[in-house]
Amino acid sequence: MQPVRPALAWDDFGHMQVALVAYRHLSPAVRERTRALLKLNPRYPNWILGARPGQRDQVAFMRAATWADAIKGDPDYTSANDEPNLPTAVANLGYADKLRHMYWHYVDQPLAADGTPTLPATVPNASTQIAAFRASLSELSTDEAVKSYDLVWLLHLVGDIHQPLHCVARYDRNDPGGDRGGHNVKISGNHHPEICDDPVYCPFNPTDDLHAFWDSITGSSYDTDKVPVAALALTEPDRRDARILDPAIWLTEGAELARQAVYVSPIGVGDGPFAVDAAYQRSALALARRRIALAGQRLAAVLEECFAQERAAHAAQTAKATRAAQATKAAQAAQESKATKETKTTQTTDGVP
Ligand SMILES: [Zn+2]
Repeated sequence: MQPVRPALAWDDFGHMQVALVAYRHLSPAVRERTRALLKLNPRYPNWILGARPGQRDQVAFMRAATWADAIKGDPDYTSANDEPNLPTAVANLGYADKLRHMYWHYVDQPLAADGTPTLPATVPNASTQIAAFRASLSELSTDEAVKSYDLVWLLHLVGDIHQPLHCVARYDRNDPGGDRGGHNVKISGNHHPEICDDPVYCPFNPTDDLHAFWDSITGSSYDTDKVPVAALALTEPDRRDARILDPAIWLTEGAELARQAVYVSPIGVGDGPFAVDAAYQRSALALARRRIALAGQRLAAVLEECFAQERAAHAAQTAKATRAAQATKAAQAAQESKATKETKTTQTTDGVP
Protein backbone atom coordinates (compact mmCIF):
# COMPACT_ATOMS: atom_id res chain seq x y z
CA MET A 1 0.00 0.00 0.00
CA GLN A 2 1.29 3.46 -0.86
CA PRO A 3 1.59 5.76 2.15
CA VAL A 4 -0.67 8.78 1.92
CA ARG A 5 1.55 11.79 1.62
CA PRO A 6 -0.12 15.14 2.05
CA ALA A 7 1.20 18.09 0.06
CA LEU A 8 3.87 19.62 2.25
CA ALA A 9 5.61 22.54 0.58
CA TRP A 10 9.26 21.66 0.13
CA ASP A 11 8.25 18.70 2.32
CA ASP A 12 9.57 18.64 5.85
CA PHE A 13 13.08 18.07 4.59
CA GLY A 14 13.18 21.24 2.50
CA HIS A 15 11.64 23.31 5.28
CA MET A 16 14.20 21.99 7.75
CA GLN A 17 17.00 22.98 5.35
CA VAL A 18 15.58 26.52 5.09
CA ALA A 19 15.44 26.65 8.90
CA LEU A 20 18.97 25.33 9.35
CA VAL A 21 20.39 27.94 6.96
CA ALA A 22 18.46 30.64 8.84
CA TYR A 23 19.57 29.35 12.24
CA ARG A 24 23.21 29.45 11.18
CA HIS A 25 22.82 33.09 10.14
CA LEU A 26 21.13 34.26 13.34
CA SER A 27 22.86 36.33 16.01
CA PRO A 28 23.11 34.76 19.49
CA ALA A 29 20.53 37.25 20.82
CA VAL A 30 17.93 36.33 18.20
CA ARG A 31 18.63 32.60 18.61
CA GLU A 32 17.93 33.05 22.31
CA ARG A 33 14.74 35.01 21.60
CA THR A 34 13.44 32.34 19.18
CA ARG A 35 14.33 29.59 21.67
CA ALA A 36 12.20 31.25 24.35
CA LEU A 37 9.26 31.62 21.96
CA LEU A 38 9.46 28.12 20.43
CA LYS A 39 9.35 26.59 23.92
CA LEU A 40 5.76 27.88 24.16
CA ASN A 41 4.63 25.65 21.26
CA PRO A 42 2.66 22.62 22.60
CA ARG A 43 4.75 20.31 20.37
CA TYR A 44 8.08 21.56 21.71
CA PRO A 45 8.73 18.47 23.91
CA ASN A 46 8.21 16.24 20.85
CA TRP A 47 10.54 18.35 18.72
CA ILE A 48 13.51 17.86 21.01
CA LEU A 49 12.79 14.20 21.76
CA GLY A 50 16.03 12.28 21.22
CA ALA A 51 18.00 15.40 20.27
CA ARG A 52 21.49 15.64 21.74
CA PRO A 53 21.61 18.33 24.48
CA GLY A 54 23.89 20.67 22.52
CA GLN A 55 21.70 20.32 19.43
CA ARG A 56 18.28 20.88 21.00
CA ASP A 57 17.80 24.52 20.03
CA GLN A 58 18.80 23.93 16.43
CA VAL A 59 16.64 20.78 16.16
CA ALA A 60 13.63 22.57 17.69
CA PHE A 61 14.12 25.43 15.24
CA MET A 62 14.13 23.02 12.28
CA ARG A 63 11.10 21.08 13.52
CA ALA A 64 9.23 24.33 14.21
CA ALA A 65 9.44 25.18 10.51
CA THR A 66 7.35 22.06 9.72
CA TRP A 67 4.64 22.69 12.34
CA ALA A 68 2.28 24.51 9.93
CA ASP A 69 2.24 21.39 7.75
CA ALA A 70 1.99 19.00 10.72
CA ILE A 71 -1.35 20.50 11.79
CA LYS A 72 -2.81 19.49 8.41
CA GLY A 73 -2.88 15.91 9.70
CA ASP A 74 -3.63 16.72 13.35
CA PRO A 75 -7.22 15.82 14.37
CA ASP A 76 -7.20 18.71 16.87
CA TYR A 77 -7.11 21.05 13.88
CA THR A 78 -9.80 21.52 11.27
CA SER A 79 -10.53 23.01 7.88
CA ALA A 80 -14.26 23.13 8.60
CA ASN A 81 -15.59 26.69 8.34
CA ASP A 82 -12.06 27.84 7.60
CA GLU A 83 -12.60 30.17 4.68
CA PRO A 84 -10.40 33.08 3.58
CA ASN A 85 -13.38 35.45 3.47
CA LEU A 86 -14.28 34.97 7.16
CA PRO A 87 -12.90 37.18 9.97
CA THR A 88 -11.33 34.03 11.53
CA ALA A 89 -8.96 33.88 8.53
CA VAL A 90 -6.91 36.78 9.90
CA ALA A 91 -7.60 36.64 13.63
CA ASN A 92 -4.21 36.33 15.34
CA LEU A 93 -5.18 34.18 18.32
CA GLY A 94 -2.12 32.04 18.87
CA TYR A 95 -2.50 28.36 19.71
CA ALA A 96 -6.15 28.81 20.66
CA ASP A 97 -6.73 28.97 16.91
CA LYS A 98 -7.46 25.41 15.75
CA LEU A 99 -7.94 26.25 12.08
CA ARG A 100 -5.51 24.83 9.54
CA HIS A 101 -5.48 27.94 7.35
CA MET A 102 -4.49 26.02 4.21
CA TYR A 103 -4.79 29.26 2.16
CA TRP A 104 -1.92 30.81 4.14
CA HIS A 105 0.60 28.48 2.48
CA TYR A 106 0.63 30.05 -0.98
CA VAL A 107 -0.23 32.97 -3.23
CA ASP A 108 -2.07 31.85 -6.34
CA GLN A 109 -0.90 34.61 -8.68
CA PRO A 110 -2.57 33.94 -12.01
CA LEU A 111 -0.46 32.55 -14.83
CA ALA A 112 -2.21 32.48 -18.18
CA ALA A 113 -1.31 29.52 -20.41
CA ASP A 114 -3.88 30.08 -23.16
CA GLY A 115 -6.76 32.51 -23.54
CA THR A 116 -8.57 31.21 -20.44
CA PRO A 117 -9.64 34.06 -18.13
CA THR A 118 -7.80 34.17 -14.81
CA LEU A 119 -8.75 35.07 -11.26
CA PRO A 120 -6.81 37.28 -8.85
CA ALA A 121 -4.92 35.69 -5.95
CA THR A 122 -6.94 34.90 -2.81
CA VAL A 123 -6.42 37.12 0.25
CA PRO A 124 -5.25 36.40 2.93
CA ASN A 125 -2.35 34.38 1.61
CA ALA A 126 1.31 33.59 2.34
CA SER A 127 2.39 37.12 1.50
CA THR A 128 -0.19 38.94 3.61
CA GLN A 129 0.45 36.57 6.53
CA ILE A 130 4.21 36.98 6.35
CA ALA A 131 3.66 40.75 6.62
CA ALA A 132 1.20 40.30 9.50
CA PHE A 133 3.51 37.98 11.47
CA ARG A 134 6.53 40.22 10.94
CA ALA A 135 4.56 43.17 12.28
CA SER A 136 3.22 41.29 15.29
CA LEU A 137 6.67 39.89 16.19
CA SER A 138 8.12 43.40 16.05
CA GLU A 139 5.56 44.85 18.45
CA LEU A 140 5.82 44.88 22.21
CA SER A 141 2.08 44.63 22.75
CA THR A 142 1.76 41.10 21.26
CA ASP A 143 1.36 38.35 23.83
CA GLU A 144 4.35 35.96 24.09
CA ALA A 145 2.26 32.86 23.29
CA VAL A 146 0.81 34.59 20.21
CA LYS A 147 4.34 35.52 19.15
CA SER A 148 5.31 31.86 19.43
CA TYR A 149 2.48 30.92 17.05
CA ASP A 150 3.39 33.76 14.68
CA LEU A 151 7.04 32.69 14.69
CA VAL A 152 6.37 29.05 13.76
CA TRP A 153 4.15 30.20 10.93
CA LEU A 154 6.73 32.71 9.73
CA LEU A 155 9.49 30.06 9.74
CA HIS A 156 7.29 27.95 7.49
CA LEU A 157 5.82 30.53 5.13
CA VAL A 158 9.11 32.13 4.13
CA GLY A 159 10.13 28.64 2.97
CA ASP A 160 6.83 28.06 1.17
CA ILE A 161 6.92 31.29 -0.79
CA HIS A 162 10.34 30.40 -2.22
CA GLN A 163 8.87 27.31 -3.88
CA PRO A 164 7.77 28.65 -7.30
CA LEU A 165 4.59 26.55 -7.30
CA HIS A 166 3.50 28.28 -4.08
CA CYS A 167 3.49 31.55 -6.01
CA VAL A 168 1.20 30.74 -8.95
CA ALA A 169 -1.89 29.03 -10.29
CA ARG A 170 -1.87 28.28 -14.01
CA TYR A 171 -5.10 28.80 -15.91
CA ASP A 172 -5.84 26.93 -19.14
CA ARG A 173 -8.83 25.27 -20.75
CA ASN A 174 -8.31 22.15 -18.59
CA ASP A 175 -8.11 24.21 -15.42
CA PRO A 176 -10.47 27.17 -15.76
CA GLY A 177 -10.35 27.51 -11.95
CA GLY A 178 -6.54 27.34 -11.87
CA ASP A 179 -4.30 24.26 -11.47
CA ARG A 180 -3.82 24.76 -7.69
CA GLY A 181 -0.11 25.45 -7.94
CA GLY A 182 0.49 22.46 -10.21
CA HIS A 183 -1.46 19.96 -8.08
CA ASN A 184 -3.76 19.24 -11.04
CA VAL A 185 -0.84 18.59 -13.39
CA LYS A 186 0.10 14.91 -13.47
CA ILE A 187 3.59 13.68 -14.21
CA SER A 188 5.17 10.30 -14.91
CA GLY A 189 8.61 8.82 -15.40
CA ASN A 190 10.15 10.67 -12.50
CA HIS A 191 12.93 8.84 -10.70
CA HIS A 192 15.84 10.11 -8.71
CA PRO A 193 17.45 7.48 -6.48
CA GLU A 194 20.35 9.80 -5.70
CA ILE A 195 18.18 12.07 -3.57
CA CYS A 196 15.27 9.77 -2.84
CA ASP A 197 16.92 8.01 0.07
CA ASP A 198 13.90 7.35 2.24
CA PRO A 199 11.83 4.42 0.94
CA VAL A 200 8.83 5.28 3.13
CA TYR A 201 8.54 8.77 1.73
CA CYS A 202 10.05 8.15 -1.69
CA PRO A 203 8.28 10.88 -3.59
CA PHE A 204 9.16 9.76 -7.07
CA ASN A 205 6.25 7.53 -7.94
CA PRO A 206 4.51 7.90 -11.30
CA THR A 207 1.20 9.01 -9.81
CA ASP A 208 2.64 12.15 -8.28
CA ASP A 209 1.62 15.59 -9.42
CA LEU A 210 3.88 18.43 -10.48
CA HIS A 211 3.49 20.31 -7.19
CA ALA A 212 4.47 17.27 -5.10
CA PHE A 213 7.44 16.66 -7.41
CA TRP A 214 8.77 20.17 -6.69
CA ASP A 215 8.00 19.97 -2.96
CA SER A 216 9.99 16.77 -2.60
CA ILE A 217 12.83 17.37 -5.06
CA THR A 218 15.46 17.68 -2.31
CA GLY A 219 14.01 14.77 -0.32
CA SER A 220 11.21 14.09 2.14
CA SER A 221 12.92 12.84 5.28
CA TYR A 222 12.04 14.08 8.80
CA ASP A 223 15.48 13.08 10.06
CA THR A 224 17.21 16.21 11.38
CA ASP A 225 20.61 14.46 11.24
CA LYS A 226 20.34 14.34 7.45
CA VAL A 227 19.66 18.07 7.10
CA PRO A 228 23.24 19.37 7.58
CA VAL A 229 24.41 16.84 4.99
CA ALA A 230 21.78 18.03 2.48
CA ALA A 231 22.65 21.64 3.31
CA LEU A 232 26.18 21.05 1.98
CA ALA A 233 24.67 20.78 -1.51
CA LEU A 234 22.81 24.12 -1.28
CA THR A 235 23.95 26.99 -3.47
CA GLU A 236 25.21 30.09 -1.66
CA PRO A 237 23.03 32.99 -2.82
CA ASP A 238 24.17 36.38 -4.05
CA ARG A 239 24.53 38.64 -1.01
CA ARG A 240 22.39 41.39 -2.52
CA ASP A 241 19.60 38.88 -3.24
CA ALA A 242 19.74 37.62 0.32
CA ARG A 243 19.08 41.17 1.55
CA ILE A 244 15.83 41.52 -0.42
CA LEU A 245 13.18 41.26 2.28
CA ASP A 246 10.09 42.45 0.42
CA PRO A 247 7.66 39.54 -0.10
CA ALA A 248 6.26 41.30 -3.18
CA ILE A 249 9.65 40.81 -4.85
CA TRP A 250 9.84 37.20 -3.66
CA LEU A 251 6.47 36.64 -5.34
CA THR A 252 7.57 38.23 -8.59
CA GLU A 253 10.65 35.99 -8.58
CA GLY A 254 8.46 32.94 -7.92
CA ALA A 255 6.10 33.68 -10.81
CA GLU A 256 9.06 34.31 -13.12
CA LEU A 257 10.68 31.01 -12.12
CA ALA A 258 7.39 29.17 -12.60
CA ARG A 259 7.29 30.46 -16.17
CA GLN A 260 10.98 29.92 -16.91
CA ALA A 261 11.78 26.69 -15.08
CA VAL A 262 8.62 24.88 -13.91
CA TYR A 263 6.05 25.02 -16.70
CA VAL A 264 8.62 24.19 -19.36
CA SER A 265 9.22 21.18 -21.57
CA PRO A 266 8.42 18.37 -21.01
CA ILE A 267 5.58 19.98 -18.98
CA GLY A 268 3.05 21.13 -21.53
CA VAL A 269 -0.25 22.97 -21.32
CA GLY A 270 -3.00 20.96 -19.62
CA ASP A 271 -3.01 18.34 -16.90
CA GLY A 272 -0.73 15.74 -18.51
CA PRO A 273 0.49 13.24 -17.58
CA PHE A 274 3.86 14.54 -18.73
CA ALA A 275 6.95 12.33 -18.64
CA VAL A 276 9.57 14.12 -16.56
CA ASP A 277 13.08 13.49 -17.90
CA ALA A 278 16.49 13.57 -16.22
CA ALA A 279 17.33 17.05 -17.56
CA TYR A 280 14.15 18.51 -16.04
CA GLN A 281 14.88 16.82 -12.72
CA ARG A 282 18.46 18.06 -12.66
CA SER A 283 17.46 21.65 -13.31
CA ALA A 284 14.60 21.40 -10.79
CA LEU A 285 17.00 20.13 -8.12
CA ALA A 286 19.52 22.88 -8.84
CA LEU A 287 16.82 25.55 -8.67
CA ALA A 288 15.37 24.14 -5.44
CA ARG A 289 18.82 24.19 -3.84
CA ARG A 290 19.20 27.86 -4.78
CA ARG A 291 15.75 28.83 -3.51
CA ILE A 292 16.09 26.95 -0.21
CA ALA A 293 19.43 28.61 0.58
CA LEU A 294 18.06 32.02 -0.39
CA ALA A 295 14.90 31.50 1.70
CA GLY A 296 17.04 30.55 4.71
CA GLN A 297 19.23 33.65 4.54
CA ARG A 298 16.25 35.92 3.97
CA LEU A 299 14.40 34.30 6.87
CA ALA A 300 17.36 35.02 9.14
CA ALA A 301 17.43 38.66 8.02
CA VAL A 302 13.66 38.98 8.57
CA LEU A 303 13.97 37.60 12.11
CA GLU A 304 16.88 39.89 12.89
CA GLU A 305 14.78 42.84 11.69
CA CYS A 306 11.69 41.83 13.70
CA PHE A 307 13.56 41.35 16.95
CA ALA A 308 15.69 44.47 16.46
CA GLN A 309 12.43 46.44 16.22
CA GLU A 310 11.11 44.64 19.27
CA ARG A 311 14.28 45.53 21.23
CA ALA A 312 14.10 49.14 20.03
CA ALA A 313 10.45 49.37 21.11
CA HIS A 314 11.40 47.92 24.49
CA ALA A 315 14.26 50.40 24.88
CA ALA A 316 11.98 53.29 23.93
CA GLN A 317 9.39 52.13 26.44
CA THR A 318 12.02 51.81 29.17
CA ALA A 319 13.40 55.27 28.37
CA LYS A 320 9.90 56.74 28.49
CA ALA A 321 9.20 55.07 31.82
CA THR A 322 12.53 56.35 33.19
CA ARG A 323 11.73 59.89 32.02
CA ALA A 324 8.27 59.67 33.58
CA ALA A 325 9.75 58.41 36.87
CA GLN A 326 12.33 61.21 36.83
CA ALA A 327 9.62 63.78 36.14
CA THR A 328 7.52 62.44 39.01
CA LYS A 329 10.56 62.51 41.30
CA ALA A 330 11.37 66.09 40.25
CA ALA A 331 7.77 67.15 40.80
CA GLN A 332 7.82 65.54 44.24
CA ALA A 333 11.10 67.24 45.09
CA ALA A 334 9.71 70.61 43.96
CA GLN A 335 6.61 70.02 46.03
CA GLU A 336 8.68 69.12 49.08
CA SER A 337 10.96 72.09 48.62
CA LYS A 338 7.95 74.40 48.32
CA ALA A 339 6.44 72.90 51.47
CA THR A 340 9.74 73.32 53.32
CA LYS A 341 9.97 76.97 52.23
CA GLU A 342 6.40 77.62 53.35
CA THR A 343 7.12 76.01 56.72
CA LYS A 344 10.24 78.14 57.12
CA THR A 345 8.34 81.29 56.19
CA THR A 346 5.63 80.43 58.71
CA GLN A 347 8.25 79.72 61.37
CA THR A 348 10.05 83.00 60.58
CA THR A 349 6.77 84.90 60.70
CA ASP A 350 5.81 83.17 63.91
CA GLY A 351 9.24 84.04 65.36
CA VAL A 352 8.79 87.80 64.81
CA PRO A 353 8.44 89.42 68.26
ZN1 LIG B 1 3.27 25.11 3.54
